[in-house]
Amino acid sequence: MQKERVLSGIRPTGFVHLGNYFGAVRNWAKMQEEFDCYFCVVDWHSLTTHPDTKELKDNVHRLLAELIASGLDPEKCVLYVQSDVPEIAELYLYLNTMAYQGELERTVTFKDKVRQQPDNVNAGLLTYPVLQAADILIHRATNVPVGKDQEQHIEMTRNYAERFNHRYGEIFPLPKAFNYYGDELIKIMSLSGEGKMSKSENQMNTLYLADDDELVRTKIKKARTDSGPTELNSPKPDYIENLFTLIRLVSSPDVVQRFEADFNNCVIRYGDMKKQLGEDMVKFMSPIREKALAIQHDKTYLSKVIQHGREKARASAGETLKLVREAMGINY
Ligand code: ATP
Ligand code: MG
Repeated sequence: MQKERVLSGIRPTGFVHLGNYFGAVRNWAKMQEEFDCYFCVVDWHSLTTHPDTKELKDNVHRLLAELIASGLDPEKCVLYVQSDVPEIAELYLYLNTMAYQGELERTVTFKDKVRQQPDNVNAGLLTYPVLQAADILIHRATNVPVGKDQEQHIEMTRNYAERFNHRYGEIFPLPKAFNYYGDELIKIMSLSGEGKMSKSENQMNTLYLADDDELVRTKIKKARTDSGPTELNSPKPDYIENLFTLIRLVSSPDVVQRFEADFNNCVIRYGDMKKQLGEDMVKFMSPIREKALAIQHDKTYLSKVIQHGREKARASAGETLKLVREAMGINY
């Protein structure tokens, strides 16, 4: 049986953090064993919010290195850069004729961006969901692993695919938001308890894969806590729950049990817990960081990965575009 095709993208807008790692990339690494996976560094998408391209190349290289160090295997998945696949831009152009101003303006992520950058409400921002649809449809992918915030974009992708199929012929399968890991999908809050860990916000309270050991320890040491529970078996405030989420991810079960018991018995010492978490986090993160650094500096290897990804992605994209052009009668 043919494997189902998965597509996901990540913007080269900054450093990969623990939220990206546990909320997305670690799952992608599992998916590549089971599905036909396409993972894309979506550099065109970053231009809508990060027009300055001085650091783009470094960002793309570092992101690729961090993805590979986190477990993506360029031999098991197609790992490529969006701008290497011009077929995506052509499909984007066709899909733009099927996307309507009203629905684009009503998109939640667009309205958010208008608030965040009122001086740069560019057309790329408005048609972001159309480009994302092209990313997905160019490989005729069916499974798109996304967070809640992206579900509307997948619905729009389905609409464009249906409109195309209706107008020109059945070319595209309808993709769905892929919830393979169900409720286990992990969200990592920032260490201050306000908002989530993020590439572009909360930087002193976000743990980045590139942070050195001392910085990891310092950030964890400063994480928000309080004077501790006063009643047995209390519910945990969300910033404390976040520390437990982290310790469950990187520490041994007996360590977790000990702090759980201390919390429930109101004898927890957060200083000790953060010290332990800091050490276990350093043990967990430093091999990934070292591996990413080595890959990032190995330009020969990186350019091979990029070229390999480009060839595989363009082969798949070219097939789709041929069908699209034939269906539209653009084949003179
Ligand atoms: P930006 O601030 O540029 O939007 P980001 O940190 O939100 O960056 P994205 O590139 O938007 O990262 O998202 C990449 C993937 O990481 C998505 O699948 C997203 O759901 C996931 N992700 C991002 N932040 C977290 C988080 N704190 N916890 C869990 N998953 C996260
Ligand atoms: Mg984001």
